[in-house]
Amino acid sequence: MRLSSAFLKTMKEVPKEAQVVSHQLMFRAGMIQKLASGIYNYLPMALRSLRKIEAIIREELEKKGCQEVLMPIVQPAELWKESGRWEYYGAELLRFKDRKDSDFCLGPTHEEVITDMVRKNLKSYKQLPWNLYQIQSKFRDEIRPRFGLMRGREFIMKDAYSFDESVEKSLENYQLMYDAYTAIFNRCGLIFKAVDAATGAIGGDRSHEFQVLAESGEDGILSCSHCGYAANEEKAAIKEKSYKLDNSTFISLEEVHTPNQKSIEEVTEFLGKKPEELIKSMVYMVDEEAVLVLVQGNKEVNEAKIQAYFNANIVHLADDKTVEEITGAATGFAGPIGLNKQIKIAADNGVQGIINMVCGANKTDYHLTDVNIERDFKADVLGDFIHAAAGEPCPVCEEGILEEHRGIEVGQVFYLGTKYSKSMSCNFLDRNGKEVPAEMGCYGIGVGRTLAAAIEQNHDDNGIIWPMAIAPYEVLIMPLQLKDEDVVNVSNTLYKSFLEAGIDAAIDDRNERAGFKFNDADLIGYPVQIIIGSKTIAEGMVEVKVRATGEKQNMKVAEVKDWMINFKSEALK
Ligand code: ATP
Ligand code: MG
Repeated sequence: MRLSSAFLKTMKEVPKEAQVVSHQLMFRAGMIQKLASGIYNYLPMALRSLRKIEAIIREELEKKGCQEVLMPIVQPAELWKESGRWEYYGAELLRFKDRKDSDFCLGPTHEEVITDMVRKNLKSYKQLPWNLYQIQSKFRDEIRPRFGLMRGREFIMKDAYSFDESVEKSLENYQLMYDAYTAIFNRCGLIFKAVDAATGAIGGDRSHEFQVLAESGEDGILSCSHCGYAANEEKAAIKEKSYKLDNSTFISLEEVHTPNQKSIEEVTEFLGKKPEELIKSMVYMVDEEAVLVLVQGNKEVNEAKIQAYFNANIVHLADDKTVEEITGAATGFAGPIGLNKQIKIAADNGVQGIINMVCGANKTDYHLTDVNIERDFKADVLGDFIHAAAGEPCPVCEEGILEEHRGIEVGQVFYLGTKYSKSMSCNFLDRNGKEVPAEMGCYGIGVGRTLAAAIEQNHDDNGIIWPMAIAPYEVLIMPLQLKDEDVVNVSNTLYKSFLEAGIDAAIDDRNERAGFKFNDADLIGYPVQIIIGSKTIAEGMVEVKVRATGEKQNMKVAEVKDWMINFKSEALK
């Protein structure tokens, strides 16, 4: 690439909305251009890197026997109605009508389409396993698009779907994909952790996220200081304890007047109690069913755990009207005793450890004090329904404590079971001649987000420091004096010889000052810069700068090509 004719404009200033480094640098390095909120043009520099990430993905997936397909972005509503997700996918699903008034959506993910595609071909277990993938634009009408390519509305995703004859075989496929992801992100030069994850709206009951460790990450990860346990904060488990309460310390229950005292802070202050002596009682809608969730006053309800426990599609807080109907009181005074309408009570395990606790009385402006579980009420369900936090004991080993990190989720793998194959009748004849639904898995990688994450991890004050494998160009040749024939000739010869040797080279043949070229080279982050100036070239030498270390060395022109070939192959190891 000759920069003199490149479609490239670097920038000094960044827009205010660019809050994270990767967004700022991609903007400044002329890689992306905003078209609308969360919707970007990918300019040549960005696309080259994206294509390299895609090539790595393709290579690693094909090694595991995956086959590439391409499905439409526009999807008919019928399929989503079959799986049931048309109703509950929520506002991220961009729905629209065609001229015949038929409902369609833009694909945020492709479980429905692939399941339909596969059921049209699948007959017998003998055809399986299948693992089909595509790399394509997705659309999710994110409520808060931000951070450039990190959280866009339209973004490029690699999504893969596996179909197997048994749970065992499906879990083998899951492991293959887990291994492929590990190889992919290693090759992209990323530092990451694979963590246990919640499955959310996708469904299924086993999942890992691949999290690139970075301060700017939107996800919290908890990992053990001692063993290998690591989980998304949504999923991280609380260590199991046995609870034995000494009932000789129980005091008798009382109703107290607590006018207008609704929040935990207000009630604790009013009654002179600590937050851990209260139980927070919240009415949740778990799909269509109302459930009263109880957690200790100093803990937060973990909706992802509620969703997983009840295997629900959606979980959200009930509105004030529903709360009033169920409790017979205004919001803020709910509790497990004396509900107006009996609903399921789901208590966090920790509630078993509180004696003489305070809770709402299901009567506006009243609370109950000295309530004790078992004596005064029973929970229908006991489980782990709160957020774990740093400093708590590891749920798996005896020695470790949980430590917190920030992460950027670049990929996720799910074991789905028969969630989609059952609802959409994607069946086959098994070894016993019986018709059964296929066992499925699904596997996503955010290609643009991976690019952004790579920049978050690899930059300095001057700009991007690309890992060799995903750099838009591997080396930049920088002739400094365009009027010096030797400078120009050596530069052109080197450039040609690099291209012939399969090195991705660019040449900065723009008629600009040296300082301008140096700044741009550092900003765009070419792994190697070859600086060719009149002074050194007179001695048959050029200057070679390694972007990552800042190291510079003078080298004979004749040695540069072999040095570069060697440097590249070392960097890709
Ligand atoms: P998040 O929790 O960040 O919203 P998700 O868990 O909903 O993501 P998945 O359904 O697991 O996303 O999608 C697979 C991959 O696609 C993610 O791991 C992520 O890398 C990428 N991805 C998801 N949403 C976006 C987005 N809005 N912009 C860019 N990449 C995204
Ligand atoms: Mg995910």
